[in-house]
Amino acid sequence: MQAIFPIPKQCSIRKNLLSWYDLHRRPLPWRESCEPYRVWISEIMLQQTRVAAVIEHYQKFLRRFPTLQKLAAARQSTVLAAWSGLGYYRRARMMHAAAKIIVRSHGGQFPQTAEAWQELPGIGRYTAAAVASIAFGEPIAVVDGNVERVLQRLSGKRLAGENLWQTAQALLDRERPGDFNQAMMELGATICAPRQPQCLTCPVVDFCAARGEMEATAKAAPQKKREIHCSFTCRDSSDGQREVLLVQRGRDASLMPGMWELPRAKADSRGALLFTVRHSITVTDYRVHVWSGSEDLAAGGKWIPAKRIARLPLTGLARKVLVKAGLLSFSPGSSALLRNR
Ligand code: SF4
Repeated sequence: MQAIFPIPKQCSIRKNLLSWYDLHRRPLPWRESCEPYRVWISEIMLQQTRVAAVIEHYQKFLRRFPTLQKLAAARQSTVLAAWSGLGYYRRARMMHAAAKIIVRSHGGQFPQTAEAWQELPGIGRYTAAAVASIAFGEPIAVVDGNVERVLQRLSGKRLAGENLWQTAQALLDRERPGDFNQAMMELGATICAPRQPQCLTCPVVDFCAARGEMEATAKAAPQKKREIHCSFTCRDSSDGQREVLLVQRGRDASLMPGMWELPRAKADSRGALLFTVRHSITVTDYRVHVWSGSEDLAAGGKWIPAKRIARLPLTGLARKVLVKAGLLSFSPGSSALLRNR
């Protein structure tokens, strides 16, 4: 394959990008240490989730599970409860399974190469390369949405697939691969944004073919709209505790198995309309109408004391409704599942 960037240009891009990163990178909590456990947790949380949403959850999660051993020894329901608000719970299940494997089959030693990381559950090519380069200094490039956009604009070409990975690998700084990978993602997240890139402040503007947005190729799929109805039912128990009625999804449900949510409100079981919230999941925008329910609904659910709710693995929607209803405190990650970094 012919090199996309000539060697002198590659050297200049590396030098400028790393100098800029050293001065301007955001002080994110997972950048305080290259300890593999912390890097791995952050990379899993950052998949499909905004940085701002991850920050609080990351710190709380590490307080709850400060070591690999603590995570591996925890019950899955405890891990899911600590993950609550980040969404895409499959990530938490896979991460927990991987922790058990590392402890039981690798003597608690993390793999040191991207190839070995990919043997673990929930670790794809991107995450494997990110952890191996940041935590172990393996000279291997990452490609995520930000890197893809930066490389396409720098080269002026619609790079895709293996060509994109090879271009990223050719450009990688082999002495500081972890920092270089993070610098590419940081540039895409803060300067070379999808809309209105800040080319005047870009450290690699002199080497950029596009110097701005590239022409769009295809329109994004339109968001679907759906209306759903759920019941919010509270009571005071005999010992004076506030309780709310929740239902648990089946263990074999294809989506969010074992998670807790509010019961659906059928047309004939709705009381007064309490409020409406919006909730987006991938390509669907939901308008969620929350109705007061009655204790008749209790047959399919369980009364949960208000003080226990925060420890349950809740769906993102249930969390949002319970925050709005004043039974849970606000969590900034509860509604933010947009894109990584
Ligand atoms: Fe992106 Fe503009 Fe920098 Fe090119 S010059 S990499 S388009 S911010």
